[in-house]
Amino acid sequence: MHTPDPNRYGEMEFYRRCGRSGLRLPLVSLGLWHNFGREAPYETARSMVLGAFDRGVTHFDLANNYGPPPGAAEETFGRILREDLGIWRDELVISTKAGYDMWPGPYGDLGSRKHLLASLDQSLERLGLDYVDIFYHHRPDPDTPLEESMGALAHAVRSGKALYAGISNYGPERTIEAATVLREMGTPCLIHQVKYSMFERRPEHGLFEVLEQEGIGCAAFSPLARGLLTARYFEGIPEDSRASRDRRFLRPEHVTEDVLSKTRRLDEIARERGQSLAQMALAWALRQPAVTGVIIGASKPSQIEDCVGVAVHRSFTSEELSRIEDVLER
Ligand code: NDP
Repeated sequence: MHTPDPNRYGEMEFYRRCGRSGLRLPLVSLGLWHNFGREAPYETARSMVLGAFDRGVTHFDLANNYGPPPGAAEETFGRILREDLGIWRDELVISTKAGYDMWPGPYGDLGSRKHLLASLDQSLERLGLDYVDIFYHHRPDPDTPLEESMGALAHAVRSGKALYAGISNYGPERTIEAATVLREMGTPCLIHQVKYSMFERRPEHGLFEVLEQEGIGCAAFSPLARGLLTARYFEGIPEDSRASRDRRFLRPEHVTEDVLSKTRRLDEIARERGQSLAQMALAWALRQPAVTGVIIGASKPSQIEDCVGVAVHRSFTSEELSRIEDVLER
Protein backbone atom coordinates (compact mmCIF):
# COMPACT_ATOMS: atom_id res chain seq x y z
CA MET A 1 0.00 0.00 0.00
CA HIS A 2 1.09 3.56 -0.70
CA THR A 3 2.31 5.78 2.15
CA PRO A 4 0.99 9.20 1.19
CA ASP A 5 2.71 12.53 1.80
CA PRO A 6 1.66 13.65 5.32
CA ASN A 7 1.51 17.27 4.07
CA ARG A 8 -0.98 16.57 1.29
CA TYR A 9 -3.72 18.67 2.92
CA GLY A 10 -1.44 21.57 3.81
CA GLU A 11 -3.40 23.98 1.63
CA MET A 12 -7.10 23.77 2.60
CA GLU A 13 -7.97 26.60 0.21
CA PHE A 14 -7.37 23.96 -2.44
CA TYR A 15 -10.93 22.65 -1.77
CA ARG A 16 -14.20 24.27 -2.75
CA ARG A 17 -17.77 23.40 -1.88
CA CYS A 18 -19.55 21.72 -4.78
CA GLY A 19 -22.67 23.81 -5.41
CA ARG A 20 -24.97 23.81 -2.39
CA SER A 21 -23.79 20.38 -1.22
CA GLY A 22 -21.60 19.45 1.73
CA LEU A 23 -18.96 17.91 -0.54
CA ARG A 24 -15.73 19.79 -1.14
CA LEU A 25 -13.74 19.07 -4.26
CA PRO A 26 -10.17 20.02 -5.12
CA LEU A 27 -9.47 22.92 -7.47
CA VAL A 28 -7.70 20.39 -9.70
CA SER A 29 -8.99 16.85 -10.25
CA LEU A 30 -7.39 14.17 -12.40
CA GLY A 31 -9.32 12.66 -15.31
CA LEU A 32 -8.42 9.25 -16.73
CA TRP A 33 -9.86 9.63 -20.23
CA HIS A 34 -6.46 9.32 -21.96
CA ASN A 35 -3.22 7.60 -20.89
CA PHE A 36 -4.78 5.04 -18.54
CA GLY A 37 -5.81 2.39 -21.05
CA ARG A 38 -4.09 -0.90 -21.83
CA GLU A 39 -1.55 0.68 -24.20
CA ALA A 40 -0.32 3.04 -21.47
CA PRO A 41 2.56 1.92 -19.25
CA TYR A 42 1.05 0.87 -15.92
CA GLU A 43 3.91 2.35 -13.88
CA THR A 44 3.35 5.81 -15.40
CA ALA A 45 -0.40 5.61 -14.77
CA ARG A 46 0.25 4.52 -11.19
CA SER A 47 2.79 7.27 -10.51
CA MET A 48 0.41 9.91 -11.89
CA VAL A 49 -2.41 8.80 -9.58
CA LEU A 50 -0.19 8.45 -6.51
CA GLY A 51 1.63 11.72 -7.26
CA ALA A 52 -1.70 13.52 -7.61
CA PHE A 53 -2.98 12.08 -4.31
CA ASP A 54 0.25 13.18 -2.59
CA ARG A 55 -0.44 16.73 -3.80
CA GLY A 56 -3.96 16.83 -2.35
CA VAL A 57 -5.86 15.76 -5.46
CA THR A 58 -8.67 13.74 -3.92
CA HIS A 59 -10.96 13.46 -6.95
CA PHE A 60 -10.39 11.01 -9.82
CA ASP A 61 -12.76 11.12 -12.76
CA LEU A 62 -13.55 8.05 -14.87
CA ALA A 63 -16.21 6.81 -17.27
CA ASN A 64 -17.30 3.36 -18.39
CA ASN A 65 -15.78 3.88 -21.85
CA TYR A 66 -12.35 5.36 -20.95
CA GLY A 67 -9.53 3.25 -22.34
CA PRO A 68 -8.73 2.04 -24.93
CA PRO A 69 -10.32 -0.43 -24.96
CA PRO A 70 -13.47 0.85 -23.22
CA GLY A 71 -13.36 -0.14 -19.55
CA ALA A 72 -9.55 -0.30 -19.38
CA ALA A 73 -9.09 2.95 -17.42
CA GLU A 74 -11.44 1.67 -14.71
CA GLU A 75 -9.47 -1.59 -14.62
CA THR A 76 -6.19 0.35 -14.27
CA PHE A 77 -7.61 2.51 -11.51
CA GLY A 78 -9.08 -0.61 -9.84
CA ARG A 79 -5.60 -2.14 -9.76
CA ILE A 80 -4.11 1.02 -8.23
CA LEU A 81 -6.83 0.94 -5.57
CA ARG A 82 -6.21 -2.74 -4.89
CA GLU A 83 -2.43 -2.44 -4.66
CA ASP A 84 -1.83 1.10 -3.39
CA LEU A 85 -4.74 3.36 -2.50
CA GLY A 86 -7.54 1.10 -1.24
CA ILE A 87 -6.95 1.86 2.44
CA TRP A 88 -7.38 5.57 1.69
CA ARG A 89 -10.82 5.05 0.13
CA ASP A 90 -12.51 7.51 2.48
CA GLU A 91 -10.12 10.25 1.33
CA LEU A 92 -11.07 9.73 -2.32
CA VAL A 93 -13.89 10.95 -4.52
CA ILE A 94 -14.19 8.55 -7.45
CA SER A 95 -16.62 9.34 -10.24
CA THR A 96 -17.77 7.38 -13.24
CA LYS A 97 -20.29 7.89 -16.02
CA ALA A 98 -22.51 6.07 -18.50
CA GLY A 99 -24.24 7.21 -21.66
CA TYR A 100 -21.75 6.91 -24.54
CA ASP A 101 -21.22 3.72 -26.58
CA MET A 102 -20.07 0.94 -24.31
CA TRP A 103 -21.29 -2.45 -25.54
CA PRO A 104 -23.15 -3.64 -28.66
CA GLY A 105 -26.90 -3.74 -28.98
CA PRO A 106 -29.74 -1.47 -27.86
CA TYR A 107 -28.71 -1.29 -24.17
CA GLY A 108 -25.06 -0.32 -24.61
CA ASP A 109 -25.45 3.49 -24.63
CA LEU A 110 -27.67 6.57 -24.13
CA GLY A 111 -30.04 7.06 -21.21
CA SER A 112 -32.28 4.09 -20.50
CA ARG A 113 -32.54 2.75 -16.97
CA LYS A 114 -31.40 -0.57 -18.41
CA HIS A 115 -28.14 0.94 -19.76
CA LEU A 116 -27.32 3.21 -16.82
CA LEU A 117 -27.78 0.67 -14.04
CA ALA A 118 -26.13 -2.23 -15.89
CA SER A 119 -23.20 0.03 -16.76
CA LEU A 120 -22.78 1.15 -13.15
CA ASP A 121 -22.63 -2.48 -12.02
CA GLN A 122 -19.96 -3.17 -14.66
CA SER A 123 -17.96 -0.11 -13.56
CA LEU A 124 -18.07 -1.19 -9.91
CA GLU A 125 -16.84 -4.63 -10.92
CA ARG A 126 -13.89 -3.20 -12.89
CA LEU A 127 -13.02 -0.77 -10.12
CA GLY A 128 -13.40 -3.40 -7.42
CA LEU A 129 -15.64 -1.05 -5.41
CA ASP A 130 -19.02 -1.30 -3.66
CA TYR A 131 -19.87 2.30 -4.55
CA VAL A 132 -18.63 5.29 -6.51
CA ASP A 133 -18.89 8.79 -5.07
CA ILE A 134 -20.46 10.39 -8.14
CA PHE A 135 -22.41 8.66 -10.92
CA TYR A 136 -23.02 10.79 -14.00
CA HIS A 137 -25.30 10.59 -16.97
CA HIS A 138 -22.57 11.29 -19.56
CA ARG A 139 -24.73 12.99 -22.22
CA PRO A 140 -28.37 13.95 -22.72
CA ASP A 141 -30.60 11.44 -24.51
CA PRO A 142 -33.48 13.27 -26.20
CA ASP A 143 -35.39 10.02 -26.86
CA THR A 144 -35.57 8.77 -23.28
CA PRO A 145 -37.84 10.54 -20.78
CA LEU A 146 -35.77 12.49 -18.26
CA GLU A 147 -37.74 10.80 -15.48
CA GLU A 148 -36.26 7.49 -16.60
CA SER A 149 -32.61 8.62 -16.84
CA MET A 150 -32.76 10.70 -13.66
CA GLY A 151 -34.73 7.92 -11.98
CA ALA A 152 -31.84 5.57 -12.69
CA LEU A 153 -29.37 8.03 -11.10
CA ALA A 154 -31.64 8.44 -8.06
CA HIS A 155 -31.97 4.66 -7.79
CA ALA A 156 -28.17 4.28 -7.92
CA VAL A 157 -27.91 6.68 -4.98
CA ARG A 158 -30.75 5.06 -2.99
CA SER A 159 -29.27 1.61 -3.51
CA GLY A 160 -25.91 2.80 -2.12
CA LYS A 161 -23.99 2.20 -5.35
CA ALA A 162 -23.34 5.94 -5.72
CA LEU A 163 -23.25 8.72 -3.12
CA TYR A 164 -24.20 11.56 -5.48
CA ALA A 165 -25.74 12.07 -8.92
CA GLY A 166 -24.35 14.23 -11.71
CA ILE A 167 -24.99 15.13 -15.34
CA SER A 168 -22.68 16.06 -18.18
CA ASN A 169 -22.96 17.86 -21.52
CA TYR A 170 -26.57 18.95 -20.81
CA GLY A 171 -27.61 22.39 -22.15
CA PRO A 172 -29.09 25.07 -19.86
CA GLU A 173 -32.79 24.17 -20.40
CA ARG A 174 -32.29 20.44 -20.03
CA THR A 175 -30.19 21.08 -16.91
CA ILE A 176 -33.06 22.94 -15.24
CA GLU A 177 -35.44 20.09 -16.12
CA ALA A 178 -33.02 17.42 -14.88
CA ALA A 179 -32.36 19.31 -11.64
CA THR A 180 -36.11 19.65 -11.02
CA VAL A 181 -36.78 15.95 -11.61
CA LEU A 182 -33.88 14.90 -9.40
CA ARG A 183 -34.92 17.26 -6.61
CA GLU A 184 -38.47 15.83 -6.69
CA MET A 185 -36.94 12.37 -6.37
CA GLY A 186 -35.03 13.46 -3.25
CA THR A 187 -31.60 13.19 -4.91
CA PRO A 188 -30.34 16.69 -5.73
CA CYS A 189 -28.07 17.07 -8.72
CA LEU A 190 -24.60 17.51 -7.20
CA ILE A 191 -22.57 18.51 -10.23
CA HIS A 192 -22.53 19.23 -13.92
CA GLN A 193 -19.45 18.35 -15.98
CA VAL A 194 -18.92 20.84 -18.82
CA LYS A 195 -16.27 21.55 -21.42
CA TYR A 196 -14.79 24.93 -20.54
CA SER A 197 -11.54 26.66 -21.38
CA MET A 198 -10.19 29.84 -22.99
CA PHE A 199 -10.94 28.13 -26.31
CA GLU A 200 -14.41 26.81 -25.41
CA ARG A 201 -16.65 29.40 -23.79
CA ARG A 202 -20.16 28.18 -24.52
CA PRO A 203 -21.09 27.68 -20.84
CA GLU A 204 -20.73 31.45 -20.31
CA HIS A 205 -23.90 31.88 -22.37
CA GLY A 206 -26.52 30.65 -19.91
CA LEU A 207 -25.30 27.41 -18.38
CA PHE A 208 -23.13 28.92 -15.62
CA GLU A 209 -26.02 31.12 -14.57
CA VAL A 210 -28.33 28.10 -14.36
CA LEU A 211 -25.81 26.15 -12.28
CA GLU A 212 -25.47 28.98 -9.78
CA GLN A 213 -29.24 29.42 -9.53
CA GLU A 214 -29.81 25.70 -9.05
CA GLY A 215 -26.94 25.30 -6.56
CA ILE A 216 -25.26 22.71 -8.78
CA GLY A 217 -21.45 22.48 -8.73
CA CYS A 218 -19.44 22.53 -11.92
CA ALA A 219 -16.45 20.48 -13.02
CA ALA A 220 -14.78 22.09 -16.04
CA PHE A 221 -13.30 19.41 -18.30
CA SER A 222 -10.56 19.81 -20.93
CA PRO A 223 -9.56 23.14 -19.33
CA LEU A 224 -6.26 23.01 -21.28
CA ALA A 225 -8.09 22.45 -24.59
CA ARG A 226 -6.63 18.90 -24.64
CA GLY A 227 -3.10 20.27 -24.36
CA LEU A 228 -3.26 23.24 -26.74
CA LEU A 229 -3.32 25.74 -23.86
CA THR A 230 0.15 24.72 -22.71
CA ALA A 231 3.66 25.16 -24.06
CA ARG A 232 3.50 21.56 -25.37
CA TYR A 233 3.29 22.46 -29.07
CA PHE A 234 5.56 25.55 -29.25
CA GLU A 235 8.44 23.67 -30.85
CA GLY A 236 6.42 21.42 -33.17
CA ILE A 237 4.41 18.31 -32.36
CA PRO A 238 6.28 16.11 -29.88
CA GLU A 239 6.12 12.39 -30.61
CA ASP A 240 4.82 11.58 -27.16
CA SER A 241 1.98 14.18 -27.32
CA ARG A 242 -1.71 13.51 -27.72
CA ALA A 243 -1.85 15.20 -31.15
CA SER A 244 0.83 12.85 -32.41
CA ARG A 245 0.04 9.61 -30.56
CA ASP A 246 -3.68 9.44 -30.00
CA ARG A 247 -5.29 11.48 -32.77
CA ARG A 248 -8.86 10.59 -31.81
CA PHE A 249 -9.76 14.05 -30.53
CA LEU A 250 -6.60 16.10 -31.11
CA ARG A 251 -4.81 15.86 -34.44
CA PRO A 252 -1.78 17.65 -35.88
CA GLU A 253 -4.10 19.83 -38.01
CA HIS A 254 -5.62 21.29 -34.82
CA VAL A 255 -2.25 22.82 -33.97
CA THR A 256 -2.70 25.73 -36.36
CA GLU A 257 -0.66 28.92 -36.74
CA ASP A 258 -3.63 30.82 -35.33
CA VAL A 259 -3.68 28.63 -32.19
CA LEU A 260 0.09 28.94 -31.78
CA SER A 261 0.10 32.69 -32.22
CA LYS A 262 -2.61 33.02 -29.55
CA THR A 263 -0.97 30.63 -27.11
CA ARG A 264 2.44 32.28 -27.50
CA ARG A 265 0.92 35.64 -26.60
CA LEU A 266 -0.94 34.05 -23.68
CA ASP A 267 2.33 32.49 -22.58
CA GLU A 268 3.90 35.94 -22.40
CA ILE A 269 1.16 37.10 -20.03
CA ALA A 270 1.58 33.94 -17.95
CA ARG A 271 5.34 34.52 -17.67
CA GLU A 272 4.75 38.06 -16.48
CA ARG A 273 2.47 36.59 -13.82
CA GLY A 274 5.25 34.21 -12.84
CA GLN A 275 3.42 31.03 -13.85
CA SER A 276 3.23 28.51 -16.67
CA LEU A 277 0.68 28.87 -19.45
CA ALA A 278 -1.09 25.73 -18.18
CA GLN A 279 -1.39 27.26 -14.70
CA MET A 280 -2.77 30.51 -16.09
CA ALA A 281 -5.30 28.67 -18.27
CA LEU A 282 -6.53 26.76 -15.20
CA ALA A 283 -6.65 29.91 -13.04
CA TRP A 284 -8.68 31.58 -15.79
CA ALA A 285 -11.28 28.76 -15.79
CA LEU A 286 -11.36 28.78 -11.98
CA ARG A 287 -12.13 32.53 -11.90
CA GLN A 288 -15.74 31.70 -12.84
CA PRO A 289 -17.82 31.66 -9.63
CA ALA A 290 -19.85 28.74 -11.02
CA VAL A 291 -16.79 26.53 -11.49
CA THR A 292 -16.00 24.31 -8.51
CA GLY A 293 -12.85 22.81 -10.00
CA VAL A 294 -11.15 21.76 -13.21
CA ILE A 295 -10.57 18.20 -14.40
CA ILE A 296 -7.24 17.91 -16.14
CA GLY A 297 -5.70 15.08 -18.10
CA ALA A 298 -2.00 14.25 -18.04
CA SER A 299 0.55 11.93 -19.63
CA LYS A 300 3.31 12.36 -17.04
CA PRO A 301 3.52 13.18 -13.33
CA SER A 302 5.39 16.47 -13.93
CA GLN A 303 2.33 17.86 -15.76
CA ILE A 304 0.14 17.20 -12.72
CA GLU A 305 2.75 18.83 -10.51
CA ASP A 306 2.69 21.89 -12.77
CA CYS A 307 -1.13 22.06 -12.89
CA VAL A 308 -1.59 21.74 -9.13
CA GLY A 309 0.70 24.78 -8.84
CA VAL A 310 -2.26 26.89 -10.02
CA ALA A 311 -3.25 27.16 -6.36
CA VAL A 312 -0.35 29.53 -5.70
CA HIS A 313 -1.57 32.34 -7.98
CA ARG A 314 -5.20 32.37 -9.06
CA SER A 315 -6.30 36.00 -9.03
CA PHE A 316 -6.19 38.30 -12.05
CA THR A 317 -5.99 42.07 -12.34
CA SER A 318 -8.61 43.61 -14.62
CA GLU A 319 -5.77 44.64 -16.92
CA GLU A 320 -4.57 41.02 -17.22
CA LEU A 321 -8.10 39.85 -17.95
CA SER A 322 -8.59 42.38 -20.69
CA ARG A 323 -5.23 41.53 -22.26
CA ILE A 324 -6.28 37.87 -22.30
CA GLU A 325 -9.65 38.81 -23.77
CA ASP A 326 -7.87 40.78 -26.45
CA VAL A 327 -5.80 37.74 -27.46
CA LEU A 328 -8.82 35.42 -27.49
CA GLU A 329 -11.01 37.77 -29.52
CA ARG A 330 -8.58 38.26 -32.38
P1 NDP B 1 -6.90 18.80 -20.67
O1 NDP B 1 -7.49 19.92 -21.45
O2 NDP B 1 -6.40 19.06 -19.30
O3 NDP B 1 -5.75 18.15 -21.58
C1 NDP B 1 -4.85 17.22 -21.03
C2 NDP B 1 -3.57 17.15 -21.85
O4 NDP B 1 -2.86 18.38 -21.78
C3 NDP B 1 -2.61 16.12 -21.31
O5 NDP B 1 -2.90 14.83 -21.78
C4 NDP B 1 -1.26 16.64 -21.76
O6 NDP B 1 -1.06 16.35 -23.14
C5 NDP B 1 -1.46 18.15 -21.67
N1 NDP B 1 -1.01 18.71 -20.39
C6 NDP B 1 -1.61 18.61 -19.17
N2 NDP B 1 -0.94 19.32 -18.25
C7 NDP B 1 0.10 19.89 -18.88
C8 NDP B 1 1.15 20.74 -18.46
N3 NDP B 1 1.21 21.15 -17.19
N4 NDP B 1 2.05 21.14 -19.37
C9 NDP B 1 1.98 20.73 -20.66
N5 NDP B 1 1.00 19.92 -21.13
C10 NDP B 1 0.07 19.50 -20.24
O7 NDP B 1 -7.98 17.70 -20.44
P2 NDP B 1 -8.52 16.35 -21.17
O8 NDP B 1 -9.03 16.69 -22.51
O9 NDP B 1 -7.52 15.28 -21.01
O10 NDP B 1 -9.77 16.04 -20.24
C11 NDP B 1 -9.58 15.95 -18.83
C12 NDP B 1 -10.62 15.07 -18.22
O11 NDP B 1 -11.91 15.63 -18.37
C13 NDP B 1 -10.75 13.66 -18.83
O12 NDP B 1 -9.75 12.78 -18.40
C14 NDP B 1 -12.12 13.29 -18.35
O13 NDP B 1 -12.04 12.86 -17.00
C15 NDP B 1 -12.88 14.61 -18.42
N6 NDP B 1 -13.64 14.70 -19.69
C16 NDP B 1 -15.01 14.59 -19.64
C17 NDP B 1 -15.78 14.61 -20.77
C18 NDP B 1 -17.26 14.52 -20.67
O14 NDP B 1 -17.94 14.38 -21.70
N7 NDP B 1 -17.82 14.60 -19.48
C19 NDP B 1 -15.16 14.75 -22.11
C20 NDP B 1 -13.72 14.92 -22.07
C21 NDP B 1 -13.01 14.90 -20.90
P3 NDP B 1 -0.14 15.13 -23.66
O15 NDP B 1 -0.97 13.91 -23.44
O16 NDP B 1 0.08 15.47 -25.07
O17 NDP B 1 1.09 15.15 -22.80
